Amino acid sequence: MITAKARAVDGPDQPFRAAEIKRRDLDTHDVLIEIKYAGICHSDIHTAHGEWGAVNYPLVPGHEIAGIVTEVGSEVTKYKVGDRVGVGCMVDSCGECENCRKGEEQYCLKGNIPTYAGVDKYGEPTQGGYSTHIVVTEGFVVRIPDNIGLDAAAPLLCAGITTYSPLRHWGAGPGKKVAVVGMGGLGHMAVKIAHAMGAEVTVLSQSLSKKEDGLQFGATHYYATSDPDTFGKLAGHFDLIINTVSASINLDAYFSLLTLDGTLVNVGAPGEPLSLNVMSLIGHRRSFAGSMIGGIRETQEMLDFCAEHGIAPQIEVISADEIDEAYKRVLASDVKYRFVIDTSTM
Ligand code: NAP
Ligand code: ZN
Repeated sequence: MITAKARAVDGPDQPFRAAEIKRRDLDTHDVLIEIKYAGICHSDIHTAHGEWGAVNYPLVPGHEIAGIVTEVGSEVTKYKVGDRVGVGCMVDSCGECENCRKGEEQYCLKGNIPTYAGVDKYGEPTQGGYSTHIVVTEGFVVRIPDNIGLDAAAPLLCAGITTYSPLRHWGAGPGKKVAVVGMGGLGHMAVKIAHAMGAEVTVLSQSLSKKEDGLQFGATHYYATSDPDTFGKLAGHFDLIINTVSASINLDAYFSLLTLDGTLVNVGAPGEPLSLNVMSLIGHRRSFAGSMIGGIRETQEMLDFCAEHGIAPQIEVISADEIDEAYKRVLASDVKYRFVIDTSTM
C-alpha cells in the first residue's frame, strides 16, 4: 500500500481538511502517478455538497489530474517511469460492452468507474486527485504533450474533453455558428476549442464583464443574457449551442436561438431537473442533447489537438489550503477560468 497526502471533505457543509489515504499496490497493468496538479471542476462541488445524491464521506474529489509516472506494474507497456501523464473523470470500465469496444468507455453499459465517489473493481471506494499519488490501470491514463505545462494540462482532462467531444460529435467547424452558454471552466475551453475547429463562436454570458477575455479566447461575438434584447437579436441564429451552466436555465429561450435542425447540447449538470416546452423544439426540428466527458482515445486526441493548436486553459494556481475559498469563488462565477491545486502544498 502507498500512503498519499490528500484533502478530504467529511460532509456537504464541511471544510476541507488534510488527510492520508491509501493507494493500492500496483497490479500488473497499473501505473503509480505522482500528482503535480489537480483542477477544481464544478462537478467536484456538486458532489462534495451532495447535490447529485448521497455521498460516501470522507470524499477526496478531483478528476483533472496531471503528474509524472513514478512506478509501473510488471506488464505495463504504454508508460514508463518519468512520463508526463493525465487522468480524467474515470479510472476503469468493463472493457467488454458495446460502448467500451467503441472507445466510449464513459458510456460503459455496466457503468464506468469514476475517479472519485465510486467503487473500484477491488471493492474499494475511489478517491480523486486532490492528493499526491494515485494508482490507475494504464488504459485509463493519457499522455500529456511536451508543450503543455502540467498545471495547464490538468483542466483539459475534464473541462477540455467535455467540450471537445460534443463539438466534434456535432460537427463544429468552418461555416458553423456555435454559441457557448456560461464562460467558466468548461465554457472558456469550449470557446477556444470551437474557434480552433474553425467555427464562428458566440459567448452567451450573464453579463459583459468577461467580454474582452471571451474575444481573446476566440469568440467573434459576446452577448449578455441579462439583456432582454439578446434573445430577439439572435433568434434562429445558431447551428449548435453548448450549455455549460451549472444551474438551471430557461431552456426554451435558448432553443429559440437555434436554426432549423440546430442542436442544444447540455453539458452543464445541475442537481435539479430542467423543464422545457417541446413546442420550442418541434417548430424548427430542433434537438436537445446531453454529452458526458469523452472516451480515452478521444481524450488523447483532444490533448494532441490542444498541443497542435497551442490551446491551454487560463488557470489560477492555488495551494491546498485555498480549496474552500476557491469553491466559494466558483459558486459566485468568480473564476478565471479554472482553479488548479498545486499538490506540493498538501
Ligand atoms: P463553472 O466554472 O462554475 O462555470 C459555469 C458558468 O455558468 C459560470 O462561470 C457562469 O458563467 C455560468 N453560470 C453559473 N451560474 C449561473 C446561473 N445561475 N445562471 C446563468 N449562468 C450561470 O463550472 P464548470 O466547471 O465549467 O462546470 C459547469 C457545469 O458542467 C457543472 O454543472 C458541472 O458539473 C458540469 N460538468 C459536466 C460534465 C459532463 O461530462 N457533462 C463534465 C464536467 C462538468 P458566466 O459568468 O459567463 O455567466
Ligand atoms: Zn469535471
